[in-house]
Amino acid sequence: MKFSRALKNFDSSGIRKVFDLAAKLKNPINLSIGEPDFKVPKDLKKEAQKAIKEDKNRYTQTAGIPLLRERIVLKLKKENGLKNISAENVIVTTGTSGALHLLFQTLINPGDEVVIIDPYFVIYKQVPQLFGAKVKVVSSYPDFSLPVSKIEKAVTVKTKMVIINSPNNPTGKVYKKEEIKNLVEVLKKKNILLISDEVYEKFIYEGQHFSPASVYKNTITLNGFSKAYALTGLRIGYAAGPKDIISEMIKLQQYTYVCAPSISQYTALKALTINVGNLILEYKKRRDLVYEGLKEKFEVEKPDGAFYIFPKTLKGRAEDLAKKAIAKNLLVVPGSVFSQKDSHFRISFAASLKDLNKGIKILKDF
Ligand code: PLP
Repeated sequence: MKFSRALKNFDSSGIRKVFDLAAKLKNPINLSIGEPDFKVPKDLKKEAQKAIKEDKNRYTQTAGIPLLRERIVLKLKKENGLKNISAENVIVTTGTSGALHLLFQTLINPGDEVVIIDPYFVIYKQVPQLFGAKVKVVSSYPDFSLPVSKIEKAVTVKTKMVIINSPNNPTGKVYKKEEIKNLVEVLKKKNILLISDEVYEKFIYEGQHFSPASVYKNTITLNGFSKAYALTGLRIGYAAGPKDIISEMIKLQQYTYVCAPSISQYTALKALTINVGNLILEYKKRRDLVYEGLKEKFEVEKPDGAFYIFPKTLKGRAEDLAKKAIAKNLLVVPGSVFSQKDSHFRISFAASLKDLNKGIKILKDF
């Protein structure tokens, strides 16, 4: 079979080797997964059941059920400080990933440049290339703060968009308001689109979350319900931004996903009324446990948010460390999956305290 040439650029060889080894393990200590280990809040389970019972399992409007779009607008105004926004600025999508895909396909022409920050969430690097973009990677090592001057240097007339993600996967960094405002000043001069992936917004342990769309209208805000409400399998997210871009994304959604899953949309409506503050305190305990456990032996930044920590390997490549960990029944993800470098590794602390303690012990013994 001759596959699409674009797919040739998808590189997963290193990580595949590591996960092939991992697949052979029986009951691994799994600190590699990017999803909450908590159960879905009871009220949300009930809401999903109610929607099924009421036969709400129909196609919805392509852009999402009107009430959900309206409630998302209210949320963005109240919690994120967005102004001049209405339902027409919002599309409900199949997860944040679905929003990213629609966005790239809507905007990118061959030869366009997309600027991303290293380490990066894998989709930002791989998917724009499907549509012929050149992805420019800007390093945020060693402390992972927003590298504004490096981004400024990377931007050219061909730059279609700059993508940021705060709180960050895989570093746990939360960008400061001032840093984001400085970036906005750079992009404003050239009217470059900013994509702000805020899927870990609720997971803040230090500092404050800041949405660039509150100060820069040429921003697409992406968010979803997977992480904060432990709804990864329901596949529900959204994009909010300039009406012309959103309406093109809606057009594309009509011919691809048709609409986001209906039962998930009704569940998301309820999710917007739920406070997850107590859960976040639990995650903070885990963050503290892992950071305190690793900091004596590893060079590591304390994560301000999300549920990941990204320590540096003591020596050598992270892929080797991940293989050594597998030999001890422990799964972590080597940095090469998220980066041009292979000097760090990602631990997800969305795991039980028991597993975290076991994992820390194994890593410290290396
Ligand atoms: N953006 C980031 C930074 C992520 O880490 C993830 C999932 O790991 C996503 C987006 C995708 O989330 P969703 O489940 O909403 O597609």
